[in-house]
Amino acid sequence: MDGIITSVQRMSVHDGPGIRSTIFMKGCNLRCRWCHNPETFSFAPELEWIKTKCIGCQACLDVCQTGALSLINGNISFHKGGCTACFDCIPECYPEALHKIGRRVTPESLFGEIEQDFPFFEESGGGITISGGEPMLQKLFVISILKLFRTGGIHTALDTNLSVPWKHYEQLLPYTSLVMADLKAMDNELHEKWTGGDNSTIIRNIRNLDESGTPYFIRTPFIPGFNDSEKEFRSIAGLLSTLKNMKRFDLLPYHPLGNWKYVNLGVENPLEGVTAPASRDIQRYASILEEYGINYQVN
Ligand code: SF4
Ligand code: SF4
Repeated sequence: MDGIITSVQRMSVHDGPGIRSTIFMKGCNLRCRWCHNPETFSFAPELEWIKTKCIGCQACLDVCQTGALSLINGNISFHKGGCTACFDCIPECYPEALHKIGRRVTPESLFGEIEQDFPFFEESGGGITISGGEPMLQKLFVISILKLFRTGGIHTALDTNLSVPWKHYEQLLPYTSLVMADLKAMDNELHEKWTGGDNSTIIRNIRNLDESGTPYFIRTPFIPGFNDSEKEFRSIAGLLSTLKNMKRFDLLPYHPLGNWKYVNLGVENPLEGVTAPASRDIQRYASILEEYGINYQVN
């Protein structure tokens, strides 16, 4: 059994309790406009061009048959749409500006890679987090990873958009110590427009998760122009206030720190130019959460 990931991020302190190793699965069924990990959208391996490392030597132009790498006004340019992911250009680039994103791994190879971090997990109450992309789209592979690490006594967290039918989650919850689930918006029209997906399964799954007995957090990204209205926030807080077993709610204000990834992938950034929300706006929404008695953190 193997699967495709983009990377393993070691020593993470933002993906669950303690120090964690986060495994980013490749492939997602949503297309959230604010996504910080656009390299996880596609299931297929793809080319990354790190513009800041490119010295303009033009060695790659000799091997690129499609014109995806080209010279425009004297500057090297990468056009994702033209790239066939042959990766012939990578060995030509000695400054290592060109990389393949996406590697196939087995649960056992991941265990071997992450084993060195176990003392940090033990010290901090951490563990592994499976994120993405959407991990549930590689369900059998993810179950194998969770089983292996749980058998090794490691805390396991699943970061999911909760958009697949509940019966699939039921198969994996016995091996999951913590679920971190997204609730992006209550207004379905808004949700579809900004993520490409319907939210009715997600909302149903939040209620199922609440009944499941598995510890869970709900996380809402706070995105200017998307869900930053008082109506939307009251609607989110209203749902949260009906949940009996949620351990914590995380409010995740948008930040543009992932913008460079869109440049490296040669794709358009739908939120180009959008800045982080002002602290007074974050405080305004935090006070709505307090009004509804929600246990929250701003991360
Ligand atoms: S991976 Fe893409 S950019 Fe590189 S040589 Fe192949 S088609 Fe051209
Ligand atoms: S080979 Fe690498 S450094 Fe040279 S122009 Fe191409 S991407 Fe830039």
